Amino acid sequence: MSEPTPVVRCAIYTRKSTEEGLEQDFNTLQAQREAAEAYILSQKQSGWYALPQTFDDGGFSGANLDRPALSKLLRAMEAREIDCVIVYKVDRLSRSLLDFARLLSLFEKHDVSFVSVTQDFNTTSSIGRLTLNILLSFAQFEREIIGERTRDKMSAARRKGKWMGGSPVLGYDIALSGGSLVVNRAEAEQVRKIFAICATSETIAEAARQINHCGIKTKDWTSRAGKHHPGIAFQKSTLDLLLRNPLYKGQISHKGMEYPGEQEAIVEPQLWTRVNQRHPTGRKGKRHRKVQTLLAGLLHCAGCGAELSVRYTSKGGIRYLYFVCHPCQKRNHPNRTVKPVACTDLEGSLVRELEPMLGERSSSIEIRQVLERLSYDFVTRQASVLLRDGSRFAYIVPVTKRRVSRKASQEKLRRVPALSRTMALAITCQRLMEEGTVTSYEELARLSGLTRGRLSQILLLANLAPEIQEQLLFLPKVGNGPDRIFEKDLRPILQVAEWHEQAKLFRSVWVRSHSE
Ligand SMILES: [Zn+2]
Repeated sequence: MSEPTPVVRCAIYTRKSTEEGLEQDFNTLQAQREAAEAYILSQKQSGWYALPQTFDDGGFSGANLDRPALSKLLRAMEAREIDCVIVYKVDRLSRSLLDFARLLSLFEKHDVSFVSVTQDFNTTSSIGRLTLNILLSFAQFEREIIGERTRDKMSAARRKGKWMGGSPVLGYDIALSGGSLVVNRAEAEQVRKIFAICATSETIAEAARQINHCGIKTKDWTSRAGKHHPGIAFQKSTLDLLLRNPLYKGQISHKGMEYPGEQEAIVEPQLWTRVNQRHPTGRKGKRHRKVQTLLAGLLHCAGCGAELSVRYTSKGGIRYLYFVCHPCQKRNHPNRTVKPVACTDLEGSLVRELEPMLGERSSSIEIRQVLERLSYDFVTRQASVLLRDGSRFAYIVPVTKRRVSRKASQEKLRRVPALSRTMALAITCQRLMEEGTVTSYEELARLSGLTRGRLSQILLLANLAPEIQEQLLFLPKVGNGPDRIFEKDLRPILQVAEWHEQAKLFRSVWVRSHSE
């Protein structure tokens, strides 16, 4: 006689708050439920089945426990009707660590296990319930929130029509106070002339010829860093960029959306639209070439300072684009190989690095507006980025294997480095203390399942200079290989209290860890 299969009665809990918009993949209660059902089905051989009752909190925040379906769930638990609670993600159950801890102890009391479908968290197989894992998923959440906050700040400003900086364009000057645009009367005339020419010309190339014939040049300006950008003759690409700019019709663009801008319009909106319809932007197949021409001029070789050029190779009818440095390639030493870098690697990594600031899938126009210069080191693959606001950061451009479905597999393989998670954990712990959610290190240690010693090690990271913390928080994701930088690398820096000194030490640690 075979042993009877145990029965595991599973309750699916779903939640969605009103402010969680369409941007989230699993935004609907239905989708959360389906994912949970699929999970239960996968455990069918262990006797799992989904209870017919629903526990859906639509329009409730995860900040507190005051939710009708959650109350219903707790009542059903007390009545011993449930063996396991399934959620799509831990934060569906609660967004507060303390509430989460309370719920888990209730679960434990009633012998109910807990599974999060998308996170590696399953109390049915591990007994340590409040482990580092939970805290880390909150810390991870914190990290995402910090990224969102930066993005939101920028988005909100854009939506309010604020000009967010970037290189000035023909027709406008940056107000002396900074942060806004004022019309340059003489240049505004030139812009109107350009639009008038393009309204009748057959092609962009023809229009560019006429404009150059009139002696109109691109914007002549000097960056805050003191670099002079002289006006030059229009090319197809620069003219195209000018025509697409919604600033001229009084709008501001952000993530593909246009918002009414604070600046005065230079061109009638009808004329702007007519010209843009007459000269539609390049076809899809050409998109790639366009992207690289847009970033051209901003990319330099870290070895010799020369501007990077683009080279093509063709394989199986597919064209691959690479950035190369001609001067360095000419004097290529046998022991110092200068390998070209794939355009998609360099540009793709830059888009990812700027994601906290510009959001996902930022356009090359948006990147151009914030990027002053990128230096690429062909030997170490380090990209050093200088933004227009004067801030800098560096990262290693990951190597990607070119395959048909490389995008999908690439995303899967990339993970957040351990140090980023630990940094997020330190910030979370510090916040819990500051807010009074936990009142002592003992309590925090107990909640997190960490030893006091380990906890104080982690909390030391919160003493780092804010810009170092930020850099650690947003370390580039890594692929299969080991992390680039480790907590132990930071020990000498943590001995120093002065932020300025810390920054100096951090730079050397950074260079060392990224040059091997
Ligand atoms: Zn070079």
